[in-house]
Amino acid sequence: MEMTTSYQQPDQQGYYGQFGGAYIPEMLHRNVEELTEKYLGIIYEESFQKEFQQLLRDYVGRPTPLFLAERLSKEHNVPVYLKREDLCHTGAHKINNTIGQILLARKLGKTRIIAETGAGQHGVATATVCALKGMECIVYMGEKDIERQAPNVARMKMLGAKVVPAASGSKTLKDATNEAIRDWINNPVDTHYIIGSVVGPHPYPDMVARFQSVISEETRKQLKEHTGTELPTHVIACVGGGSNAAGMFYHFLDEPSVQLVAVEAAGHGVNSGMSAATTQLGKPGILHGSKSLVMQTTDGQVVEPHSISAGLDYPGVGPLHAHLFESGRGTFLNATDEEALQAAFHLAKTEGIIPALESAHAFSVLEKLKLKPSDRVVVCLSGRGDKDLATYMNAMQK
Ligand SMILES: *Cc1c(COP(=O)(O)O)cnc(C)c1O
Repeated sequence: MEMTTSYQQPDQQGYYGQFGGAYIPEMLHRNVEELTEKYLGIIYEESFQKEFQQLLRDYVGRPTPLFLAERLSKEHNVPVYLKREDLCHTGAHKINNTIGQILLARKLGKTRIIAETGAGQHGVATATVCALKGMECIVYMGEKDIERQAPNVARMKMLGAKVVPAASGSKTLKDATNEAIRDWINNPVDTHYIIGSVVGPHPYPDMVARFQSVISEETRKQLKEHTGTELPTHVIACVGGGSNAAGMFYHFLDEPSVQLVAVEAAGHGVNSGMSAATTQLGKPGILHGSKSLVMQTTDGQVVEPHSISAGLDYPGVGPLHAHLFESGRGTFLNATDEEALQAAFHLAKTEGIIPALESAHAFSVLEKLKLKPSDRVVVCLSGRGDKDLATYMNAMQK
């Protein structure tokens, strides 16, 4: 029996506190019900776990190292460890989830995979595992995003995926999501929908958190090897939808001595009208099939978010994080575009690691926390910066 007070697990209906649930069209009930009934049984089956663990090791390259960043530690006068998700195959943590979901899809007897993507990172992670397992892959992407994210579109195509433009509305992520849902309604029997973060209707937030929880599972063991104790005092992660943070927090959620620090994108500033700091600006509402905090106008229209990093540019946040915020279990900070850029350049020069812009947000709060020399800090380095080189080149010219 799980503790009923655990932050790890939503209730039967998929609620973390008041957030979560499954707000979906009638015609999706069968698909989502099938998943809800079967996912836990499947993912803890021995044969599933064996294949999952083997692929994480031999294909993704896990365990990813826990690296003591000595120069950064010296500067902040506290040991700072980096969990190196940037070293995963395809360059970020997203592959942990897509590996899990492709194996689940096969156990469910599905032959066709759909996904939606904004910046293209989740599309690439999905196309990758579809190629690995020889599954048909259709990725919906806003027409505008297809123009803006040409390298990722090329990667998906090279990996054998079909990229379908969503031409309605603002031609971005929201419209791609609508197209993916329409597809799933029309293909309920043979198709699995891979969602890329701890968002969407129950059971997705819980399922994705479980697949990503390998991050904190490894961290506990590795920290013990480094320091003799499994528990850090602080874990820090950036939050877009919240999947790398959920993975980094998961095995520390019920350890009250560990401070969970979530860093959102403030864009040009929380109150600038150009921000993605959802917990600071959002109100309870329904987005992508679950109840969470959502950036919206007084009459409930979703507000366009802004962040320099495409992965954090999302007007909602997963229900687990909305609950961590509301209950006070999580500490929610934010970093502006400018602060993230500075943190990225600083990490590059200090440790020889060029981070993804998303991850750079997490590093930028090190100086905002009141850290003591006796603390132990783990920062989730969710991805590598290769994809952000054009942005970094721009910044260097200024
Ligand atoms: C997609 C992405 C994120 C944001 O997604 P989460 O679900 O919040 O983790 C963060 N970092 C990197 C490197 C990403 O690619």
